[in-house]
Amino acid sequence: MLHDIETFSPPFYLFRSSEDCWKCGKTCRVVALASGKEEPFVLSDIRSMPDEFLLAITAAQPNYERRHSKMADTEYFMNTCPCGAHFGDFYLYCEPGGAFFPTEEDEASRVEVIELPIEGEHSIDCSPGMGTGGLILEHGKRIDWGSIA
Ligand SMILES: [Zn+2]
Repeated sequence: MLHDIETFSPPFYLFRSSEDCWKCGKTCRVVALASGKEEPFVLSDIRSMPDEFLLAITAAQPNYERRHSKMADTEYFMNTCPCGAHFGDFYLYCEPGGAFFPTEEDEASRVEVIELPIEGEHSIDCSPGMGTGGLILEHGKRIDWGSIA
């Protein structure tokens, strides 16, 4: 998997959806960071990012933290369940039908799209993916940042 520290430009978006925990079955909020206009990159395997991003993400999804991934054999930020299990990025981003891999408009319309109040260019160590961000941006449910923070 491509792994570089890259520079990303606004707009920055938080995609928010829900997924059932594979371990306890509880429905959990899950989030993803995205960057760019029209066809944004969806950023997975985030190994490091500026504090303002982490603060914004955890305001919308408190159960988000850096953990070790056996599958990726590295530490990256991931969505977790209160039971202790975590959602691997691969499952959420790379499996068709996963929370952030909608295959049709109907699935994309269930994702909340929140534009983050973050300006300027930022370096984020992650794997940027293309292909699903545009569908989510076009059909997702727009939520105002002010109603989150
Ligand atoms: Zn759980």
